[in-house]
Amino acid sequence: MKWKCIFPTHSEITRFGEKPHFQGGLYKLEHDIYAWMVPNGSWGESNAGLIVGKGESLLIDTLWDINYTQVMLQAMRSFTQGNPLKYVVNTHADGDHFWGNELVAHVEVITSKSSLLEMMHTKPNSMLLLNKIGKLFSAIKVFNNDKVGHWFQGMTAPYDFKSVTHTPATRTFEGELTISVGGRGVQLIEIGPAHTAGDLMVYIPDAKALFSGDILFVESTPIIWAGPLENWLKALDKIMELDVKIIIPGHGPITDKSGVEAVKKYWEFVDKQVRQRFQKGMSASKAARDIVLNNEFMEQPFATWNSPERMMINVHTLYRHIQGRKQRIKGIELLNILRKQALLAYELPYAQPTSMRMI
Ligand SMILES: [Zn+2]
Repeated sequence: MKWKCIFPTHSEITRFGEKPHFQGGLYKLEHDIYAWMVPNGSWGESNAGLIVGKGESLLIDTLWDINYTQVMLQAMRSFTQGNPLKYVVNTHADGDHFWGNELVAHVEVITSKSSLLEMMHTKPNSMLLLNKIGKLFSAIKVFNNDKVGHWFQGMTAPYDFKSVTHTPATRTFEGELTISVGGRGVQLIEIGPAHTAGDLMVYIPDAKALFSGDILFVESTPIIWAGPLENWLKALDKIMELDVKIIIPGHGPITDKSGVEAVKKYWEFVDKQVRQRFQKGMSASKAARDIVLNNEFMEQPFATWNSPERMMINVHTLYRHIQGRKQRIKGIELLNILRKQALLAYELPYAQPTSMRMI
């Protein structure tokens, strides 16, 4: 990345023990925009940002737990001391973008109305439960349950969810909202439901910068929890229309419009492959496996992105939409799909993070 990292996190490895593909820490971009970047953009390795205006600032997203959020806020302190936080914006309702909110609870926290509804049900208990189930599975040495258990535990291992006090946003909007941050106009643009029910992006016209939330994953496989996919593709088109030079994705390195094109290619490919297999009467789980183990997929640039096994959840969500079922996958059904996703990861020897698999 050509941008300057002014507060690097001094770690030789990522949270999952991988070699970092980019330097983690606080980056100074143009026009008093800062980005908190977390390599390599895998589970919970989410980015965040800071917009500094005259005498006040706006934080975009908190992180998956208190420790990581604390480290980030500390790195931002030299800018927030003279320009205290006036707003926090949560780009959506996934825990890795709002579970650190209790550390900024003294500030107005804004999100879309749909995200707030989803936040009410997105509690740290869900990840503690996944970790517990992982432990139980690990003890069962037959039918690959131990492998699944290792994968579940691996996802949650870098994080301390016990210390999180669930703190949803305090102000909502629908559609678009422009706010002033020390005299700078900042636009919040709702584009969900796509990745989740209420995704929004933060656009700073005077800096030609955009924080896309999880509408963009760079060098990391996107996940569609909500959909429909058409909305996601519309959101990507919307970014292409904006006057932007710098894009900070929800996961992965800083990008520009080329990052948008890459995600678009991924979804167009997946959409086509899914429809073909749906028409043949193939089950969603079979289709997901068939797609990622196919040469046509292997030859694509996105085959080497982090967590290719996310194809499993993606295909299941797309199947539901084709069938006209709009409700998000949850509960036991979600757990079962994650179990299949874990097993699929074991079939992809190049899939990162490798530490989530028993080698
Ligand atoms: Zn995320």
